Amino acid sequence: MKADNGKPRATSFWARYRNLILVISIILFLPPLAAIVQLTGDVNFCGRWCPRMFFVWREGTTMTAFLMGFVRSYMGVALVVTILGTTLAFGRYWCSHLCPVASPLELGSRLVPAPLKLDFSKTPAPSFRYAYLSVYFIVPAIGIGSLCCNYCNFAAVPRLFAAPFSAGDLTYFLRFQGVVNLGLLLFLGIFAKGGRAYCNLLCPIGALDALSNRIGAKFGRRIRIDRTKCTNCGECSKVCPAWAIDTQGDTTIINQLSCMPCRLCQGACQTQAIYYGKPAS
Ligand code: SF4
Ligand code: SF4
Repeated sequence: MKADNGKPRATSFWARYRNLILVISIILFLPPLAAIVQLTGDVNFCGRWCPRMFFVWREGTTMTAFLMGFVRSYMGVALVVTILGTTLAFGRYWCSHLCPVASPLELGSRLVPAPLKLDFSKTPAPSFRYAYLSVYFIVPAIGIGSLCCNYCNFAAVPRLFAAPFSAGDLTYFLRFQGVVNLGLLLFLGIFAKGGRAYCNLLCPIGALDALSNRIGAKFGRRIRIDRTKCTNCGECSKVCPAWAIDTQGDTTIINQLSCMPCRLCQGACQTQAIYYGKPAS
């Protein structure tokens, strides 16, 4: 890839081999995730592996029962703590490169012709995302927490891949909640421009990860803009799948409440103004 001045444009390893990295993350993580239902016999996909329901307060829950939720879901707790901890220091690499639930959606969206793609980039993602996260805290407290499990992407995507091999998973997609989940994955994933609308709007883990990203931005490594090089041309915002770049006004800003270090913007920037690193001192 060449810049306008004829010199090679600075694209990182992570951006250049992005598709390959996403394929590797799917191969490494999706089969074990899809096999959990079969291995544990837990059709609701909960218990020790669940990475999200342990942190919500349910109606009538005692403090002991709440704390026992952390013990029961110890694998899910370990996953979430690892994700949020590494994000503090290095940014959202889980979301951008490793998540086996998001990777198939982003890769699948590359196969959809541009005229068929849906553009959600004008949606106020942080407001929507944290409104949806708050549902996770409110719904169980009024006794209908099963709604969160029914519309959980960590369950739906593995089931989708297991469906050709498992009658139970196939049947899931013939029921109402399976049809709705499939529609959401298609509408907000495969057919969404950038393939990340589901991540940007409806993933509670992504919402927590984005918070960690924002908190750690003061000291951790992040995608940043060198203002001395930026011409405010807006090219970077056109390729951002997280809708994290605001070019309105006369300053281009990366919103660390949405950015994941996919680095696609680096390849689009003609002036090499975008870099990954610690805040300038
Ligand atoms: S700002 Fe750049 S690195 Fe961050 S999500 Fe957008 S394209 Fe990816
Ligand atoms: S593409 Fe580069 S120069 Fe253009 S607005 Fe983005 S950071 Fe600034």
